[in-house]
Amino acid sequence: MSTSKAYAAASAKSSMAQTTIPRREPTERDVQIEILFCGICHSDLHTVRDEWASVWPTVYPCVPGHEIVGRVTKVGAKVANHKAGDLVAVGCLVDSDHTCAQCQKGLEQFCASATFTYNAPDKHGTAPVTYGGYSDSIVVDERFVLRVPTNLDLAATAPLLCAGITTYSPMRHWEVGKGKKVGIVGLGGLGHMGVKFAHALGAQTVVFTTSPGKVEDAKRLGADEVVISKNASEMSKHVGSFDFILDAVSADHDINAYLNLLKPDGTVTLVGAPEKPLAVSAFSLLFGRRSLSGSPIGGIPETQEMLDFCGKHNITADVEVVAVQQVNEAYERLLKGDVKYRFCIDMASLKNG
Ligand code: NAP
Ligand code: ZN
Repeated sequence: MSTSKAYAAASAKSSMAQTTIPRREPTERDVQIEILFCGICHSDLHTVRDEWASVWPTVYPCVPGHEIVGRVTKVGAKVANHKAGDLVAVGCLVDSDHTCAQCQKGLEQFCASATFTYNAPDKHGTAPVTYGGYSDSIVVDERFVLRVPTNLDLAATAPLLCAGITTYSPMRHWEVGKGKKVGIVGLGGLGHMGVKFAHALGAQTVVFTTSPGKVEDAKRLGADEVVISKNASEMSKHVGSFDFILDAVSADHDINAYLNLLKPDGTVTLVGAPEKPLAVSAFSLLFGRRSLSGSPIGGIPETQEMLDFCGKHNITADVEVVAVQQVNEAYERLLKGDVKYRFCIDMASLKNG
Protein backbone atom coordinates (compact mmCIF):
# COMPACT_ATOMS: atom_id res chain seq x y z
CA MET A 1 0.00 0.00 0.00
CA SER A 2 1.21 3.53 -0.72
CA THR A 3 -0.33 6.92 -0.03
CA SER A 4 -1.36 9.78 -2.29
CA LYS A 5 -2.14 13.41 -1.70
CA ALA A 6 -5.75 14.16 -2.55
CA TYR A 7 -8.58 16.69 -2.22
CA ALA A 8 -11.61 15.30 -0.41
CA ALA A 9 -14.96 16.28 1.08
CA ALA A 10 -15.46 14.99 4.65
CA SER A 11 -19.27 15.42 4.51
CA ALA A 12 -22.03 16.81 2.29
CA LYS A 13 -21.71 20.16 4.04
CA SER A 14 -17.90 20.41 4.13
CA SER A 15 -15.65 22.27 1.76
CA MET A 16 -13.07 20.21 -0.09
CA ALA A 17 -9.70 20.06 1.67
CA GLN A 18 -6.34 18.38 1.28
CA THR A 19 -5.89 14.92 2.75
CA THR A 20 -3.92 11.69 2.33
CA ILE A 21 -5.48 8.54 0.87
CA PRO A 22 -4.28 4.95 0.42
CA ARG A 23 -3.56 3.53 -3.06
CA ARG A 24 -2.82 -0.15 -3.73
CA GLU A 25 0.51 -1.39 -5.02
CA PRO A 26 0.04 -2.26 -8.71
CA THR A 27 -0.98 -5.91 -9.19
CA GLU A 28 0.25 -7.74 -12.31
CA ARG A 29 -2.51 -6.21 -14.48
CA ASP A 30 -2.37 -2.70 -12.99
CA VAL A 31 -1.00 0.58 -14.23
CA GLN A 32 0.17 3.21 -11.73
CA ILE A 33 -0.35 6.74 -13.03
CA GLU A 34 0.92 10.14 -11.92
CA ILE A 35 -2.11 12.38 -12.45
CA LEU A 36 -1.29 15.56 -14.39
CA PHE A 37 -4.77 17.02 -15.00
CA CYS A 38 -8.30 16.26 -13.83
CA GLY A 39 -11.45 17.97 -15.13
CA ILE A 40 -14.22 19.16 -12.81
CA CYS A 41 -17.55 17.58 -13.85
CA HIS A 42 -20.90 18.69 -12.44
CA SER A 43 -21.30 15.05 -11.31
CA ASP A 44 -18.38 15.69 -8.90
CA LEU A 45 -20.39 18.48 -7.32
CA HIS A 46 -23.65 16.46 -7.22
CA THR A 47 -21.74 13.62 -5.49
CA VAL A 48 -19.73 15.73 -3.04
CA ARG A 49 -22.97 17.39 -1.87
CA ASP A 50 -24.85 14.04 -1.81
CA GLU A 51 -27.48 15.38 -4.22
CA TRP A 52 -27.99 11.91 -5.71
CA ALA A 53 -28.56 10.34 -2.25
CA SER A 54 -31.77 8.55 -3.32
CA VAL A 55 -29.99 6.66 -6.14
CA TRP A 56 -26.33 6.68 -5.26
CA PRO A 57 -25.52 7.90 -1.73
CA THR A 58 -22.09 9.36 -1.16
CA VAL A 59 -19.62 7.65 1.17
CA TYR A 60 -17.24 10.07 2.91
CA PRO A 61 -14.49 11.00 2.66
CA CYS A 62 -15.24 11.53 -1.02
CA VAL A 63 -12.44 12.13 -3.53
CA PRO A 64 -14.14 12.93 -6.84
CA GLY A 65 -12.66 13.28 -10.34
CA HIS A 66 -13.16 11.10 -13.42
CA GLU A 67 -11.58 13.14 -16.20
CA ILE A 68 -8.00 12.03 -15.67
CA VAL A 69 -4.89 12.48 -17.80
CA GLY A 70 -1.49 11.41 -16.53
CA ARG A 71 1.82 9.68 -17.06
CA VAL A 72 2.48 6.00 -16.34
CA THR A 73 4.98 5.56 -13.50
CA LYS A 74 4.88 1.77 -13.04
CA VAL A 75 3.18 -1.27 -14.60
CA GLY A 76 2.49 -4.81 -13.37
CA ALA A 77 4.32 -7.81 -14.87
CA LYS A 78 1.45 -8.82 -17.20
CA VAL A 79 0.60 -5.36 -18.53
CA ALA A 80 0.96 -5.49 -22.31
CA ASN A 81 -0.33 -2.20 -23.66
CA HIS A 82 1.20 0.49 -21.45
CA LYS A 83 4.70 1.24 -20.17
CA ALA A 84 6.34 3.72 -17.81
CA GLY A 85 6.46 7.19 -19.38
CA ASP A 86 3.33 6.79 -21.57
CA LEU A 87 0.67 9.51 -21.51
CA VAL A 88 -2.64 7.88 -20.65
CA ALA A 89 -6.19 8.69 -19.58
CA VAL A 90 -8.81 7.26 -17.22
CA GLY A 91 -12.52 8.11 -17.32
CA CYS A 92 -15.55 7.20 -15.23
CA LEU A 93 -14.88 3.44 -14.98
CA VAL A 94 -11.93 1.60 -13.45
CA ASP A 95 -13.20 -2.00 -13.55
CA SER A 96 -16.04 -4.38 -14.51
CA ASP A 97 -16.57 -8.14 -14.38
CA HIS A 98 -15.06 -8.61 -17.89
CA THR A 99 -17.29 -11.64 -18.53
CA CYS A 100 -20.97 -10.60 -18.76
CA ALA A 101 -22.80 -10.08 -22.04
CA GLN A 102 -22.36 -6.30 -21.83
CA CYS A 103 -18.61 -6.51 -21.17
CA GLN A 104 -18.27 -8.94 -24.10
CA LYS A 105 -19.78 -6.22 -26.30
CA GLY A 106 -17.46 -3.53 -24.93
CA LEU A 107 -20.39 -1.87 -23.15
CA GLU A 108 -18.78 -1.90 -19.70
CA GLN A 109 -20.97 1.05 -18.66
CA PHE A 110 -23.88 -1.45 -18.51
CA CYS A 111 -22.02 -4.16 -16.53
CA ALA A 112 -23.88 -4.84 -13.28
CA SER A 113 -20.51 -5.04 -11.49
CA ALA A 114 -18.86 -2.05 -13.12
CA THR A 115 -16.65 -0.10 -10.72
CA PHE A 116 -16.94 3.66 -11.04
CA THR A 117 -13.80 5.73 -10.57
CA TYR A 118 -15.06 7.24 -7.32
CA ASN A 119 -17.74 6.52 -4.71
CA ALA A 120 -18.02 2.84 -5.72
CA PRO A 121 -17.20 -0.19 -3.55
CA ASP A 122 -13.46 -0.86 -3.88
CA LYS A 123 -13.04 -4.50 -4.97
CA HIS A 124 -9.39 -4.42 -3.88
CA GLY A 125 -10.34 -3.39 -0.34
CA THR A 126 -7.82 -0.55 -0.29
CA ALA A 127 -10.55 1.73 1.09
CA PRO A 128 -14.34 1.39 1.52
CA VAL A 129 -14.92 3.15 -1.81
CA THR A 130 -12.86 4.09 -4.83
CA TYR A 131 -11.12 7.47 -4.79
CA GLY A 132 -10.99 9.55 -7.97
CA GLY A 133 -8.72 11.92 -9.79
CA TYR A 134 -8.42 14.93 -7.44
CA SER A 135 -5.21 13.24 -6.37
CA ASP A 136 -1.57 12.98 -7.42
CA SER A 137 -1.73 9.31 -8.42
CA ILE A 138 -4.08 6.41 -9.15
CA VAL A 139 -3.75 2.66 -9.80
CA VAL A 140 -6.03 1.23 -12.50
CA ASP A 141 -6.54 -2.12 -14.25
CA GLU A 142 -4.86 -1.78 -17.66
CA ARG A 143 -8.10 -2.62 -19.47
CA PHE A 144 -9.51 0.73 -18.27
CA VAL A 145 -6.47 2.81 -19.20
CA LEU A 146 -6.77 4.70 -22.50
CA ARG A 147 -4.24 6.04 -24.98
CA VAL A 148 -4.06 9.84 -25.42
CA PRO A 149 -3.58 11.23 -28.96
CA THR A 150 -0.15 12.89 -29.08
CA ASN A 151 -1.28 16.08 -30.87
CA LEU A 152 -3.72 17.33 -28.21
CA ASP A 153 -3.20 19.72 -25.29
CA LEU A 154 -3.29 17.61 -22.11
CA ALA A 155 -5.40 19.88 -19.88
CA ALA A 156 -7.96 20.28 -22.68
CA THR A 157 -7.98 16.52 -23.26
CA ALA A 158 -8.92 15.55 -19.69
CA PRO A 159 -12.63 16.56 -20.02
CA LEU A 160 -13.00 14.25 -23.02
CA LEU A 161 -12.96 11.34 -20.54
CA CYS A 162 -16.43 12.23 -19.23
CA ALA A 163 -17.93 15.27 -20.99
CA GLY A 164 -16.54 13.96 -24.29
CA ILE A 165 -17.64 10.33 -24.20
CA THR A 166 -21.01 11.13 -22.56
CA THR A 167 -21.98 13.31 -25.52
CA TYR A 168 -20.21 11.32 -28.26
CA SER A 169 -21.74 7.94 -27.32
CA PRO A 170 -25.46 8.85 -27.68
CA MET A 171 -24.72 10.75 -30.90
CA ARG A 172 -23.18 7.62 -32.39
CA HIS A 173 -26.01 5.44 -31.06
CA TRP A 174 -28.75 7.68 -32.51
CA GLU A 175 -26.76 8.18 -35.74
CA VAL A 176 -26.20 11.92 -35.61
CA GLY A 177 -24.71 13.05 -38.90
CA LYS A 178 -25.34 14.78 -42.22
CA GLY A 179 -29.00 15.48 -42.97
CA LYS A 180 -30.01 15.38 -39.27
CA LYS A 181 -31.22 18.37 -37.26
CA VAL A 182 -29.75 18.11 -33.78
CA GLY A 183 -30.31 20.20 -30.65
CA ILE A 184 -27.99 20.59 -27.66
CA VAL A 185 -29.62 21.88 -24.47
CA GLY A 186 -27.38 23.62 -21.90
CA LEU A 187 -24.01 25.01 -22.91
CA GLY A 188 -21.89 23.74 -20.03
CA GLY A 189 -19.07 21.19 -19.89
CA LEU A 190 -21.09 18.43 -21.55
CA GLY A 191 -23.07 20.74 -23.82
CA HIS A 192 -20.06 22.47 -25.37
CA MET A 193 -18.55 19.07 -26.25
CA GLY A 194 -21.92 18.05 -27.70
CA VAL A 195 -21.86 21.07 -30.00
CA LYS A 196 -18.34 20.26 -31.19
CA PHE A 197 -19.24 16.62 -31.94
CA ALA A 198 -22.60 17.35 -33.63
CA HIS A 199 -20.86 19.88 -35.87
CA ALA A 200 -17.92 17.54 -36.61
CA LEU A 201 -20.36 14.73 -37.47
CA GLY A 202 -22.00 17.02 -40.04
CA ALA A 203 -25.40 17.61 -38.39
CA GLN A 204 -27.36 20.87 -38.51
CA THR A 205 -26.64 21.93 -34.93
CA VAL A 206 -28.87 24.16 -32.78
CA VAL A 207 -27.92 25.20 -29.24
CA PHE A 208 -30.55 25.96 -26.58
CA THR A 209 -29.23 28.12 -23.77
CA THR A 210 -30.66 30.13 -20.89
CA SER A 211 -27.63 32.44 -21.07
CA PRO A 212 -27.74 35.22 -23.71
CA GLY A 213 -24.03 35.81 -23.00
CA LYS A 214 -23.14 32.41 -24.51
CA VAL A 215 -24.66 33.00 -27.98
CA GLU A 216 -21.45 34.07 -29.73
CA ASP A 217 -19.46 31.26 -28.09
CA ALA A 218 -22.02 28.68 -29.18
CA LYS A 219 -21.56 29.80 -32.80
CA ARG A 220 -17.78 29.71 -32.47
CA LEU A 221 -18.02 26.16 -31.06
CA GLY A 222 -19.95 25.03 -34.15
CA ALA A 223 -23.65 25.88 -33.72
CA ASP A 224 -25.54 26.81 -36.89
CA GLU A 225 -28.21 28.50 -34.77
CA VAL A 226 -28.67 29.49 -31.12
CA VAL A 227 -32.02 29.73 -29.33
CA ILE A 228 -32.57 31.47 -25.99
CA SER A 229 -34.77 28.83 -24.41
CA LYS A 230 -36.67 31.30 -22.19
CA ASN A 231 -37.98 33.05 -25.33
CA ALA A 232 -41.24 31.28 -26.25
CA SER A 233 -41.53 32.76 -29.73
CA GLU A 234 -37.97 31.69 -30.64
CA MET A 235 -38.75 28.19 -29.33
CA SER A 236 -42.02 27.94 -31.28
CA LYS A 237 -40.22 28.40 -34.63
CA HIS A 238 -38.64 24.96 -34.13
CA VAL A 239 -41.73 22.91 -33.17
CA GLY A 240 -41.76 19.46 -34.83
CA SER A 241 -38.40 19.89 -36.59
CA PHE A 242 -35.69 17.95 -34.70
CA ASP A 243 -34.43 14.41 -35.26
CA PHE A 244 -32.47 14.31 -32.01
CA ILE A 245 -32.00 16.53 -28.96
CA LEU A 246 -29.30 15.99 -26.33
CA ASP A 247 -30.31 17.46 -22.96
CA ALA A 248 -27.25 18.26 -20.82
CA VAL A 249 -28.92 20.40 -18.15
CA SER A 250 -27.87 19.86 -14.53
CA ALA A 251 -30.96 21.34 -12.83
CA ASP A 252 -34.76 21.16 -12.93
CA HIS A 253 -36.26 22.40 -16.23
CA ASP A 254 -39.25 21.84 -18.56
CA ILE A 255 -38.48 18.74 -20.63
CA ASN A 256 -41.82 18.98 -22.50
CA ALA A 257 -40.60 22.19 -24.16
CA TYR A 258 -37.95 20.06 -25.94
CA LEU A 259 -40.06 16.95 -26.61
CA ASN A 260 -42.45 19.23 -28.53
CA LEU A 261 -39.63 20.30 -30.84
CA LEU A 262 -39.11 16.72 -32.10
CA LYS A 263 -40.27 15.41 -35.48
CA PRO A 264 -42.36 12.21 -35.45
CA ASP A 265 -40.17 9.38 -34.11
CA GLY A 266 -37.57 11.85 -32.86
CA THR A 267 -35.68 11.34 -29.60
CA VAL A 268 -34.69 13.50 -26.65
CA THR A 269 -31.79 11.89 -24.79
CA LEU A 270 -31.03 12.98 -21.26
CA VAL A 271 -27.40 13.07 -20.28
CA GLY A 272 -27.94 15.70 -17.60
CA ALA A 273 -28.82 14.22 -14.21
CA PRO A 274 -30.79 16.77 -12.13
CA GLU A 275 -31.37 16.04 -8.48
CA LYS A 276 -35.21 16.03 -8.79
CA PRO A 277 -37.41 13.98 -11.18
CA LEU A 278 -38.57 15.75 -14.35
CA ALA A 279 -42.32 16.01 -15.09
CA VAL A 280 -43.18 14.50 -18.49
CA SER A 281 -46.55 15.14 -20.16
CA ALA A 282 -47.92 12.02 -21.88
CA PHE A 283 -49.06 14.24 -24.76
CA SER A 284 -45.49 15.41 -25.45
CA LEU A 285 -44.63 11.76 -26.18
CA LEU A 286 -47.70 10.31 -27.82
CA PHE A 287 -48.20 13.04 -30.42
CA GLY A 288 -45.52 12.18 -32.96
CA ARG A 289 -44.59 8.86 -31.30
CA ARG A 290 -41.65 10.62 -29.72
CA SER A 291 -39.10 9.02 -27.41
CA LEU A 292 -37.42 10.17 -24.22
CA SER A 293 -34.25 8.27 -23.38
CA GLY A 294 -31.06 8.55 -21.35
CA SER A 295 -27.44 7.63 -21.80
CA PRO A 296 -24.61 7.10 -19.31
CA ILE A 297 -20.94 7.73 -20.25
CA GLY A 298 -19.68 5.08 -22.74
CA GLY A 299 -17.78 1.80 -22.94
CA ILE A 300 -14.00 1.50 -23.14
CA PRO A 301 -13.69 0.71 -26.89
CA GLU A 302 -15.97 3.64 -27.74
CA THR A 303 -14.05 5.94 -25.38
CA GLN A 304 -10.84 5.08 -27.25
CA GLU A 305 -12.68 5.62 -30.56
CA MET A 306 -13.79 9.06 -29.29
CA LEU A 307 -10.24 10.00 -28.24
CA ASP A 308 -8.90 8.93 -31.65
CA PHE A 309 -11.71 10.90 -33.38
CA CYS A 310 -10.68 13.95 -31.32
CA GLY A 311 -7.04 13.45 -32.28
CA LYS A 312 -7.97 13.25 -35.97
CA HIS A 313 -10.30 16.27 -35.90
CA ASN A 314 -8.27 18.28 -33.37
CA ILE A 315 -11.16 18.45 -30.90
CA THR A 316 -10.60 19.23 -27.21
CA ALA A 317 -12.54 20.96 -24.43
CA ASP A 318 -12.36 24.71 -23.79
CA VAL A 319 -10.80 24.74 -20.34
CA GLU A 320 -10.01 27.15 -17.53
CA VAL A 321 -7.07 25.58 -15.70
CA VAL A 322 -7.21 26.03 -11.92
CA ALA A 323 -5.09 25.03 -8.93
CA VAL A 324 -6.58 22.37 -6.65
CA GLN A 325 -6.79 25.00 -3.89
CA GLN A 326 -9.41 26.80 -6.06
CA VAL A 327 -11.80 23.83 -6.20
CA ASN A 328 -14.35 25.20 -3.72
CA GLU A 329 -14.53 28.49 -5.57
CA ALA A 330 -14.77 26.62 -8.88
CA TYR A 331 -17.79 24.65 -7.60
CA GLU A 332 -19.61 27.90 -6.70
CA ARG A 333 -18.84 29.31 -10.15
CA LEU A 334 -19.97 26.05 -11.82
CA LEU A 335 -23.34 26.38 -10.05
CA LYS A 336 -23.71 29.88 -11.50
CA GLY A 337 -22.79 28.72 -15.02
CA ASP A 338 -19.67 30.89 -14.77
CA VAL A 339 -17.19 28.67 -16.60
CA LYS A 340 -16.13 28.57 -20.24
CA TYR A 341 -16.58 25.66 -20.47
CA ARG A 342 -14.78 23.22 -18.18
CA PHE A 343 -12.59 23.73 -15.14
CA CYS A 344 -9.53 21.52 -15.20
CA ILE A 345 -7.25 21.08 -12.20
CA ASP A 346 -3.50 21.26 -12.75
CA MET A 347 -2.55 18.52 -10.32
CA ALA A 348 1.00 19.84 -9.91
CA SER A 349 -0.64 22.39 -7.56
CA LEU A 350 -1.26 19.59 -5.05
CA LYS A 351 2.47 19.68 -4.26
CA ASN A 352 2.00 23.22 -2.87
CA GLY A 353 -0.58 22.19 -0.26
P1 NAP B 1 -22.40 22.29 -16.24
O1 NAP B 1 -21.07 22.57 -16.85
O2 NAP B 1 -22.76 22.93 -14.95
O3 NAP B 1 -23.50 22.62 -17.36
C1 NAP B 1 -24.87 22.57 -17.11
C2 NAP B 1 -25.58 23.60 -17.99
O4 NAP B 1 -26.98 23.45 -17.80
C3 NAP B 1 -25.29 25.03 -17.62
O5 NAP B 1 -24.13 25.54 -18.23
C4 NAP B 1 -26.53 25.75 -18.14
O6 NAP B 1 -26.41 26.00 -19.55
C5 NAP B 1 -27.63 24.71 -17.96
N1 NAP B 1 -28.41 24.97 -16.76
C6 NAP B 1 -27.98 25.02 -15.49
N2 NAP B 1 -28.99 25.28 -14.63
C7 NAP B 1 -30.10 25.39 -15.41
C8 NAP B 1 -31.48 25.62 -15.14
N3 NAP B 1 -31.91 25.83 -13.88
N4 NAP B 1 -32.36 25.65 -16.18
C9 NAP B 1 -31.93 25.45 -17.44
N5 NAP B 1 -30.63 25.24 -17.77
C10 NAP B 1 -29.74 25.20 -16.76
O7 NAP B 1 -22.56 20.73 -15.98
P2 NAP B 1 -21.93 19.47 -16.78
O8 NAP B 1 -20.67 19.05 -16.11
O9 NAP B 1 -21.97 19.75 -18.22
O10 NAP B 1 -23.00 18.35 -16.41
C11 NAP B 1 -24.36 18.49 -16.83
C12 NAP B 1 -25.20 17.40 -16.20
O11 NAP B 1 -24.83 16.14 -16.77
C13 NAP B 1 -25.01 17.22 -14.69
O12 NAP B 1 -26.27 16.92 -14.09
C14 NAP B 1 -24.07 16.03 -14.58
O13 NAP B 1 -24.17 15.33 -13.38
C15 NAP B 1 -24.59 15.19 -15.73
N6 NAP B 1 -23.63 14.17 -16.23
C16 NAP B 1 -24.16 13.02 -16.70
C17 NAP B 1 -23.32 12.06 -17.25
C18 NAP B 1 -23.90 10.83 -17.83
O14 NAP B 1 -23.20 9.82 -17.89
N7 NAP B 1 -25.11 10.87 -18.34
C19 NAP B 1 -21.95 12.28 -17.30
C20 NAP B 1 -21.46 13.49 -16.82
C21 NAP B 1 -22.31 14.44 -16.30
P3 NAP B 1 -26.91 27.39 -20.23
O15 NAP B 1 -26.22 28.49 -19.47
O16 NAP B 1 -26.45 27.26 -21.63
O17 NAP B 1 -28.41 27.40 -20.11
ZN1 ZN C 1 -18.51 13.47 -15.34
